[in-house]
Amino acid sequence: MSRKKIIAGNWKMNKTPSETAVFIKELSDKVNQTNDIIICAVPYVCIPAALKASKRSRIKIAAQNMHYEDNGAYTGEISANMLLDLGVKYVIIGHSERRQYFNETDITVNKKVLKALKSGLKPIICVGESLEQREMGVTSDYVRYQVAYALNGVSVEDLKNIIIAYEPIWAIGTGKTASNEQANDVCKTIREALVEKYGRRAANATYIQYGGSVNTKNAKDLFGMSDIDGGLVGGASLKTEDFDKIVNYNK
Ligand code: PEP
Repeated sequence: MSRKKIIAGNWKMNKTPSETAVFIKELSDKVNQTNDIIICAVPYVCIPAALKASKRSRIKIAAQNMHYEDNGAYTGEISANMLLDLGVKYVIIGHSERRQYFNETDITVNKKVLKALKSGLKPIICVGESLEQREMGVTSDYVRYQVAYALNGVSVEDLKNIIIAYEPIWAIGTGKTASNEQANDVCKTIREALVEKYGRRAANATYIQYGGSVNTKNAKDLFGMSDIDGGLVGGASLKTEDFDKIVNYNK
């Protein structure tokens, strides 16, 4: 089963709407030759500018979070329907920074995944172990647990619409990348967990990205591994020349 690569930039809390418009226009010209799927996950307020600037390009726009309720008294939150109304198709869910700084839990991740799927958004679900967990030797068990929790209630039909991003916390924004083998081993473990729950065919069709200090130098080797279907890229997605090289990793 051959899968394309999905290469997504996570801008986090960077760039204004005006900077977004300039950046996406510049990036569009550089990445239009690829057959892979290119996504920019931009801050909420930058979504309209990003959608406008990406209209005639291959770039897809994602949000970095959403709430699991449809509407109500949730000051400062954004619903799936609000994103869909703008034209957003993808949403990152459960990024480790949301888990670490904003009390995101496996329970809220699962609620958000179910809401996103029900609404028609494709969730990019982030999982990954801490350094302590890796050193204790519980990486596989922990990541399997996170995946099982996030996908509780997700049908085999809905599995087609999800992307899983394996992001070891110790590699995010630290410049420490997991080795190709370490990253691939965990992505393989995730795929095996999907095989057990959904069968080989569905598992082989699921996209599993690696994220954690992906850069212009390591992207090609990481993306060349058997179970890594692209990357979720933080810091290196903020400069057009770097993200261009990552997207065009095989040139
Ligand atoms: C991320 O934010 O998901 C990420 C992987 O960041 P970085 O590439 O900067 O490590």
